[in-house]
Amino acid sequence: MQTFWDDCKKELEKRIDHHNFISYIAPTKMTDSKEGEISLLVPSTFFADWIEKHYLQSIREVIGTKTGSDPKIKFVVDAKKPEPAANNPAPAKGKKRQVSNQFKPQYSFDTFVVGKSNEFANASALACAKNPGTKYNPLYLYGGVGLGKTHLVQSMGRMILENNPDAKVLYISSDNWVNQMISKIKNNQMEEFRATFRKVDVLLVDDVQFFGGKAATQEEFFHTFNELFHEGKQIVITSDQFPKDIKGLEDRLKSRFASGLIADIQPADVETKVAIINKKSSANGHVIPQEVAFFLAETIRSNIRELEGSMARVIAVASITGRPIDLALAKETLDGVYSEEKKHIGVTQIQKAVTEYYSLKPNDLKAKSRRRNLVIPRQLAMYICRDVTEDSLPTIGKAFGGRDHSTVIHAFQKVKKDLETNTKLYKDLTAIKKILEI
Ligand code: ADP
Ligand code: MG
Repeated sequence: MQTFWDDCKKELEKRIDHHNFISYIAPTKMTDSKEGEISLLVPSTFFADWIEKHYLQSIREVIGTKTGSDPKIKFVVDAKKPEPAANNPAPAKGKKRQVSNQFKPQYSFDTFVVGKSNEFANASALACAKNPGTKYNPLYLYGGVGLGKTHLVQSMGRMILENNPDAKVLYISSDNWVNQMISKIKNNQMEEFRATFRKVDVLLVDDVQFFGGKAATQEEFFHTFNELFHEGKQIVITSDQFPKDIKGLEDRLKSRFASGLIADIQPADVETKVAIINKKSSANGHVIPQEVAFFLAETIRSNIRELEGSMARVIAVASITGRPIDLALAKETLDGVYSEEKKHIGVTQIQKAVTEYYSLKPNDLKAKSRRRNLVIPRQLAMYICRDVTEDSLPTIGKAFGGRDHSTVIHAFQKVKKDLETNTKLYKDLTAIKKILEI
């Protein structure tokens, strides 16, 4: 019985991400198997839920191919075992201590897909995690919602602890910091609060933009920052904005944040998004046809969390209805969720937003003038039209003072290329999208 399960595990190991396999599947044992039912022994209820949610399908498929049947899978919690920390998939070699459960098992450098948009942030995070408290201090990671900041900062904490299990690594989101501080103040325990943060070796603060406008928090954090910094302790900060753009943040913090290494994460390109889909789906034992992966990657513009959500929805619908995962199913599943937003934004709105952002006159984008201060906004506006509306190239060209469709193509390609290197342009685009609420 156990050999049978060991064989199944070997098969599962091929399908599931290595870290996840070690964390969740490796510790399981088969305890019982009768006609139509197999019981698996798991260390805790957490494991039972997690495996059921993420790996049941793969387990059933593997058992199916080995036995030709589809038995019910039951999870039995091993009462004898002390509850292990489920979030500790990778204890450092030869050390007993496990990675603290501040770090979610799914967030590691291994599971992070690297593309152009996040290459620098990934490399910075990795270099810093390998040598904390040295060159890159503080490390400041910034990028839009759902682009992988938490994933990276968590991967760093995990790696630092794996390499040095005795390091005191503390991960905290900034709203959690604020809440804890409020409650400590109320209970007269500020000394304790202070000590907690000032004795760490590595402090990871996620989403620091929430400190904006909170003076007492900033005061406290400023001193913590200085103390840690002077002792050569590593500080990592994430935010959805560049330090100087965080509203309500004191200048002295802005300058501290900007004094180390700043790395940004930009929205992923389609290829990276497809790679993320492939990695996440195969880790969960699913195969997503490439045309479906491309469809999802093109439909979900930036937020990777949404990308994952839509992938999960497609997989769920397929398994509930018993239909194959194909383009038709993906389109139906996402219909109305994402396509509507696209329809609402028209060329006129885009032109209005661009004109407003660059403080131009209403007809400047349509004018014949080729002055540089008009050409760039005009090209950017065409780029956005091409990117977010369904309008054809000639229609877009016409809306810009009767220009030819080839002008639109040229503008689109030029802006696309420039966005890769021109951070000013990228910022402009982001700001205009914000005006348009896209
Ligand atoms: P943020 O903190 O920037 O809002 P998260 O780190 O929470 O974003 O990422 C959102 C989701 O997208 C997470 O599940 C994360 O694992 C996933 N994700 C983001 N970028 C990547 C990537 N490059 N490779 C794999 N997963 C990613
Ligand atoms: Mg986050």
